[in-house]
Amino acid sequence: MRFREPSAWQIYRIQILIVAAVILLQAGSITWLVYEQRRRLAAELVTREAMFELTQMNRIAGAGELSASIAHEVNQPLAAIALNAGAALNWLKAKTPNLEEARDALIRVVSDSHRAGHIITSLRALFRKDTEQKGSVEINKVILTVLELVRIELEKYDIAVHTQFDDGLPPMTGSEVQLQQVVLNLVMNAKEAVQSAPLPRELRVESERTADGGVQVSVEDSGAGISPSDLPRIFQPMFTTKPNGMGMGLAICRSIVEAHDGRIWAEARAGAGSAFRFSLPADGT
Ligand code: ADP
Repeated sequence: MRFREPSAWQIYRIQILIVAAVILLQAGSITWLVYEQRRRLAAELVTREAMFELTQMNRIAGAGELSASIAHEVNQPLAAIALNAGAALNWLKAKTPNLEEARDALIRVVSDSHRAGHIITSLRALFRKDTEQKGSVEINKVILTVLELVRIELEKYDIAVHTQFDDGLPPMTGSEVQLQQVVLNLVMNAKEAVQSAPLPRELRVESERTADGGVQVSVEDSGAGISPSDLPRIFQPMFTTKPNGMGMGLAICRSIVEAHDGRIWAEARAGAGSAFRFSLPADGT
């Protein structure tokens, strides 16, 4: 009995207690981390849903602003179709029908109806609900679709658009609808910035390849520019200097560009307008 071996508990009590405390502490912090992670994911989900709702609202507001321009875009080919179809009928009704002229008029009818169809397709795409759908994106096509939609709106204010596209841009993947939304917001802001400026009122929209192999789009205007004190805040939600502004356009642009792993920024050109640029990585970069 006198020489009974002391138990492990008696020898290592302190160490066992320390190890148990460490294990308990670790288990506690892991549980806490998992809980925090869940909470963050839930919060991110709510933010994403809210952003999605806002993007939809922004798109609908944009559609409202553009409705006159869109109606005109659709009406133009329809009016041309009616005119050319009438002309074809007249050529056919004549005592000696002029088949050649009738054929030419009908060719114009076909091409105008394709044009009307194309406009409707791009509108449908712009207001589609499944905006998250990703695929291969041709950024020059995105820009051209937007410029087609705003053409009349720009003409109304005597605003000239200069474009410069890089035709050899690398392939990239993204949501075409969301990127159209970004370009549309930037072009509409640029339009608002120049519409009351003295003539000449100019916008410049460019696409180019970045040094690291990605794609960069710039929308520049000759408006009043942005004051240095506003510049750090313009991408914040609800920041607006317009009496009826929502202040969501640029925040939405930033969230879309960042969801595409890109970057968006503004440069104010002192007294000579502003430039908004965003860059996106190409496939495999
Ligand atoms: P909103 O257009 O509703 O104000 P935005 O988020 O699109 O919301 O823009 C936020 C603010 O950024 C605008 O109110 C304006 O002050 C400034 N801004 C945006 N684009 C331009 C631009 N092209 N030129 C000058 N200021 C601009």
